[in-house]
Amino acid sequence: MLNVAGIAVSPHHYIDCQRVASEMRFDLHSPIDQALLGSISEGSPAHVDAAVTAAARAFPAWSALTAAERKPYLDRFAAEIGKRAEAFCTLESNDAGVLLSRMKHGVVPRAVLNISWFAEHALTLQDRPIETDQATHLVRHDPAGVVAIITPWNAPLMLATWKLGPALAAGNCVIVKPPEWAPLTSSLLADCAHAAGLPPGVFNIVQGGGASTGARLVSDPRLARISFTGSVPTAKWIAQSAGANLVPCSLELGGKSAFIVLEDADIDNAAATGALMYRNAGQVCLAGTRFLVHRKVHDAFVAALRGHVEKLTVGDPREDATEVGPIIHPRQVERVHGFVQRAVADGATLLWGGAHHSFGAQYYQPTLLAGVRQDSEIVQNEVFGPVLTLQVFDSDEDAIALANGTDYGLGGVCYGEVEHASAVAQQVRTGFIWVNSFGIRDLAAPFGGIKRSGVGREGGDWSFEFFCDVKDVVLPKKPFRASFSHR
Ligand code: NAD
Repeated sequence: MLNVAGIAVSPHHYIDCQRVASEMRFDLHSPIDQALLGSISEGSPAHVDAAVTAAARAFPAWSALTAAERKPYLDRFAAEIGKRAEAFCTLESNDAGVLLSRMKHGVVPRAVLNISWFAEHALTLQDRPIETDQATHLVRHDPAGVVAIITPWNAPLMLATWKLGPALAAGNCVIVKPPEWAPLTSSLLADCAHAAGLPPGVFNIVQGGGASTGARLVSDPRLARISFTGSVPTAKWIAQSAGANLVPCSLELGGKSAFIVLEDADIDNAAATGALMYRNAGQVCLAGTRFLVHRKVHDAFVAALRGHVEKLTVGDPREDATEVGPIIHPRQVERVHGFVQRAVADGATLLWGGAHHSFGAQYYQPTLLAGVRQDSEIVQNEVFGPVLTLQVFDSDEDAIALANGTDYGLGGVCYGEVEHASAVAQQVRTGFIWVNSFGIRDLAAPFGGIKRSGVGREGGDWSFEFFCDVKDVVLPKKPFRASFSHR
């Protein structure tokens, strides 16, 4: 067992209800201060094979239960997560650098809900009949089989549970491959599943790197589904593996979302929300990272935003006062800084930030770059750090063209008089967009991106459409007698 800030957590895989250790290990460091948190088991092909075998063996019995029979298992699973709230907060704050306050008030309650809500929603799925004159169509949602779940480091607990809830409630057996830079809360989830009495093989975890363990997992032909959240380059590899075996995959990817400020926006409100884009040190897929501001309100918006940004406290994510924590890994810090340096060399103007933060090696100043060209690297590529851009527009048409002018289409924000902002928002090509707000989510609503931001939707029925084999059982209303004249 590792001891991370007083929390005991296993560094090993969880396969068929057993903790399994690897000889091969990798070191895990905290982004807060680079402290060594422990040495984590690296999944070999044999571990991946054992996990898929266990899941395939567990599937017939687990899938034979009704949603109502599975629900008590999932309710206990959710309750076990709730019981360990403090441990989850401590672990994810230490290994991923997420604000402790955000873990407490946002992520952990949401993780509990991710399991219990989908268990409840699964009860509404079966036998939603479609009635016609000819027949009753019993539309069934049958479990698909063995599911691989692959998650990124920026929101490991939230995203693992967001996928596990519907996958398990639908009757599938799962293998989770957590992110190698932040694997601890997924490991603790295995303790919760164990305590909840999930049968052997229903829930498995194989730790390890992406190109090794992850790649091996997604190439297993016994998988029925692959649910992935992460970057575009990885998604392309995964889609190739999935394609080779014709396994359906859901891909939730990066973003470069627009934050539009129209001339009739409430400027201070828009600026307060704008400063939120630095949350989690900008390591948030759905952040509005490109400010598009009407020329008439540009100066007022920049002044108001500067006021909010100057008040941000950068520092240790375990402190209550901290609003911007560390960047996950030294490689990511250098990547972020490289983007800024190249943007400046390309003619962009630094309005603030642009350098490492004095708090520590993995902290970066909240940064804003203006004077950026639409076709420049900094506008077209996801930085995934506290680096935002600012562009000016003169008309709604310009704003919409700039918003739509990247290969991404995940989220978006639009501030303005409500009807005006709503009309503009509806013309932005994206998976979702918030009008005069940010971050409002509901588990029943669809979530996902278009263009390079993803394939498929999660949330509510959409999650079940993906994790289930949807079947139409046709019951004719009149006696049916075969004849070649039937169409
Ligand atoms: P990543 O693609 O590098 O890694 C994601 C996961 O994939 C990790 O667990 C990794 O080990 C695994 N992986 C890597 N190569 C693999 C391979 N060949 N086969 C199988 N698995 C492999 O992404 P990241 O850097 O961890 O996360 C940041 C990215 O995630 C950003 O682009 C961000 O926008 C995106 N993201 C998207 C959403 C969303 O909901 N759309 C949410 C959070 C993060």
